[in-house]
Amino acid sequence: MNMFSKATKLVVATALLAGLSTASMAKDKVYKWKLATTWGPTLSPFIDAPENMAKLVEEMSNGRLIIRVDAANKHKSAFGILDMVKGGQYEMGHSASYYWKGKDIDLLPFTTMPFGMTAPEQYAWFYYGGGLELMQKAYAKHHVLSFPGGNTGNQMGGWFRKEVKTLDDLKGLKMRIPGFAGEIMAKLGLTVTNIAPGELYTALERGTIDALEWVGPGMDINMGFHKVAPYYYTGWHEPATELQFLVNEKAYNKLPKDLQAILLTAMKISSYNMYIQNYDMSATAWSKIATEYPDIKIKTFPKPIMDAMKQANKELLTEMSKDHPLLKEVLDSQAAYQKKAREWTKMSDYLYLKDNL
Ligand code: CA
Repeated sequence: MNMFSKATKLVVATALLAGLSTASMAKDKVYKWKLATTWGPTLSPFIDAPENMAKLVEEMSNGRLIIRVDAANKHKSAFGILDMVKGGQYEMGHSASYYWKGKDIDLLPFTTMPFGMTAPEQYAWFYYGGGLELMQKAYAKHHVLSFPGGNTGNQMGGWFRKEVKTLDDLKGLKMRIPGFAGEIMAKLGLTVTNIAPGELYTALERGTIDALEWVGPGMDINMGFHKVAPYYYTGWHEPATELQFLVNEKAYNKLPKDLQAILLTAMKISSYNMYIQNYDMSATAWSKIATEYPDIKIKTFPKPIMDAMKQANKELLTEMSKDHPLLKEVLDSQAAYQKKAREWTKMSDYLYLKDNL
């Protein structure tokens, strides 16, 4: 009797355990993802955005979603991020949307546009002005989801070996400059190219290129460009460069709702953190530039050059959106939002700064 009772208890206990483990299996299932970035393993703050995101995801999910971040030296395809996420080799990517302009022009405007919105204006457009929906629409044909991935704020116009005084000084120069700004520079007679971040310094030093733009003092000075090309121009072309997180749509849809929410939250927090981290890096570097790097010559492009850039920008916007209805929809949305938001920027930041510099 006792034995029987013991056996019954055992059966009941085993059944209970089995039931429990079935229920908790779904809850405890561990998702292991991989993320590919365009950036090298020490390229702060760009690499920090996906690394912080992965760390937050792991902590918030109690280890149920683990994302391994592969820097460019690992996968060796700095500009292949979209293809790798689309093809499913990586569930996620971190890069800049304007790098795919040759592949799909509709993806270009989600990083930044010359003479376009500043970072607060553009973030407002993404999250409250329909920008995020348009970005999903543009990426839908690739079966990839895309989210803001960290902003650099206003970028510097780049490093030149010689001073640029006239439009003729620009003609024939070979410059690394991506995105829509590259199209403008090509229209002004430069030979334009894009080069992976890890190869920029060598390209400039060896004379493969005569000039380049990268980000701002916080990131540029670490790269050493000033040793080769000391003329450092103020910005016009990337007023609010937003990086992008890419997520394979199928992989995202397989995640339980709570892990999706954790992922979205972690991407948003780490993006905002990169924005302020880069601001701090540039402010710190800038505060030391005059004393530690007295050979750097800070310049602004003369007005005739700026006017020519603006004119080329206007013509190219009309020309390039003519045969691309989705690109036109995005550009029109950005232009309309910029017009509205800029009035407030003038009333708030601009008037405040004008009298408090
Ligand atoms: Ca740049």
